[in-house]
Amino acid sequence: MSGGWARSTRKSRLPSNWRSEIRPAAHARNPDHICHICGQPGGDRLDHKQPGDDHSPENLDWAHDATPPHCHRYKSSREGHAAKAANPPPGRKRPPEQHPGLL
Ligand SMILES: [Zn+2]
Repeated sequence: MSGGWARSTRKSRLPSNWRSEIRPAAHARNPDHICHICGQPGGDRLDHKQPGDDHSPENLDWAHDATPPHCHRYKSSREGHAAKAANPPPGRKRPPEQHPGLL
């Protein structure tokens, strides 16, 4: 269990025509559900490329979520890692010094 979903507030609401129009239209554009993250077919989730309330076709594409290789979950965790990497803990790296015995 990753617990990632537990903290997800999922604030973006899906429009009422999500299932009746938006999802079928996305399927028609991309019948193989080519995953926009890994480029392989079989995505099970219609993903927002830019998180938020932009449900335009340009912002929606398929991704593997519950289906291996779970690209969408990795995408989420990568965003978390990127946030950490942008603010690394200080003082862990010293410039290399020549060993005094070699001087
Ligand atoms: Zn994928």
